[in-house]
Amino acid sequence: MQLVDIGANLGHESFRHDFDAVLQRAQEHGVGRMIVTGASREGSEHALALARAHPGVLWATAGVHPHHAVDYDDATDARLRELAQDPAVRALGETGLDYNRNYSPRDVQLHAFERQLAIAAELGKPLFLHQRDAHGDFVALLRRWRDKVPAAVVHCFTDSREALCDYLALDCHVGITGWICDERRGSHLREFVREIPANRLMIETDAPYLLPRTVRPQPSHRRNEPMYLRHICEEIARDRGEPADVTAANSTATAEAFFGLPRAD
Ligand SMILES: [Zn+2]
Repeated sequence: MQLVDIGANLGHESFRHDFDAVLQRAQEHGVGRMIVTGASREGSEHALALARAHPGVLWATAGVHPHHAVDYDDATDARLRELAQDPAVRALGETGLDYNRNYSPRDVQLHAFERQLAIAAELGKPLFLHQRDAHGDFVALLRRWRDKVPAAVVHCFTDSREALCDYLALDCHVGITGWICDERRGSHLREFVREIPANRLMIETDAPYLLPRTVRPQPSHRRNEPMYLRHICEEIARDRGEPADVTAANSTATAEAFFGLPRAD
């Protein structure tokens, strides 16, 4: 099993003390390649540094998460533009809208999102998108920009079947995390994850967040890490009614095509 974790926040401070061991364990569980999420200007610099230090294993995204939209200024915009042109940076994002916590005001989020859509369009970069409790505004904006960008993944999809249909109609990819393993808030995903076409489905941990609640034994530290992607893949496979090898092979091929990774053999 060869898996690609398309969303790992490996720049997070919780990985600092045992970073190499985390990559090692991932490798041992079939997760040989990871896309490090950039969610702020500094975080995107860090993600790129990690990718450069681990060629062939790590790649990066560059973007500003809606939580940090208040920090999005002209200097950030210019720097993201530079970062996005680095060969190790494979997508623009994480960007999007999050009305669940509103750490940044909505109008500020919309503004930062649209500026990043413009960068992706200008540079022809795929988008790595985040949407929570903001589907209406999000899909309206995405609809206006979708044909100007080559590809877009709605990462950590947690929304309804209707939202999923909207994204698939816009020819978006969908990232599924261990959220699906959460019986309190993710079980609805189990009912329609099989409706995502194999060439649009990618899988991710969103580590260190979202430790799958069905992993046994649960690690005492509660930190999620890329090695658990295998467990997520198996859970998704069961819900799709297919062997885990099939889910693995298809999601890997989809991630290779989406992020332009060299094909594994
Ligand atoms: Zn996110």
